[in-house]
Amino acid sequence: MNVLAENLKRVERNIKDACERSGRSIEDVTLIAVSKRKPASLIREAYALGLRDFGENYAQELAEKAQELSDLKDIRWHMIGHVQRNKVNLVVKHTSVLHTVDSDKLASALAARVTQPLPVFISVNLGQEASKSGCAVSELPALVEKVREQQSLSLLGLMAIPPRAEAPEQARPHFERLRQLAEQHQLKGLSMGMSADYMVAVEEGATHVRVGTSLFGARE
Ligand SMILES: *Cc1c(COP(=O)(O)O)cnc(C)c1O
Repeated sequence: MNVLAENLKRVERNIKDACERSGRSIEDVTLIAVSKRKPASLIREAYALGLRDFGENYAQELAEKAQELSDLKDIRWHMIGHVQRNKVNLVVKHTSVLHTVDSDKLASALAARVTQPLPVFISVNLGQEASKSGCAVSELPALVEKVREQQSLSLLGLMAIPPRAEAPEQARPHFERLRQLAEQHQLKGLSMGMSADYMVAVEEGATHVRVGTSLFGARE
């Protein structure tokens, strides 16, 4: 078995174990393979192993890979990076799920351009970090309302990247917080957990985990 196949097996096993520990069903967790800065050929390999959901951070890179892999009809592209408003056209063309709605203005710009309902998450800046995008917790109620007003956006839930930590357990309170915020707004989707902490995220209710390094190896 090659390295990618082994990595995938391990990640899937870890997700399954975390589901069992927390009494959840594995069907409720989508593994998004984060392929940023990795070649299309590797995505094709991952697809052949059964993966269908891929995450990209940059609009241009997502569009190029989507075009190169357009023969893979049921592949789903998840935009997980901050979206600049001048990239909205490019993004909506190829994206199945957008995880990073972080402002009224972006929500309106997206809504004006999509041709069929676009599933979205609102990204939340839980740690109030200046280096991260995402809606402030205090602004979340207004943004939820705004996104729900848009007929062409379908709000799945909330997304977050917790502050960098030494140990996976340090992310747990942030994941818990995101779950509580989602519950307050009757939202079911939780896009949370990366290579370092996806098992903790699943235990705390993640419906979408975004795993790059643990599948594809370190990025350049
Ligand atoms: C890069 C990235 C990931 C994946 O990170 P890994 O640590 O490589 O698993 C997940 N989510 C977002 C938003 C990212 O930018």
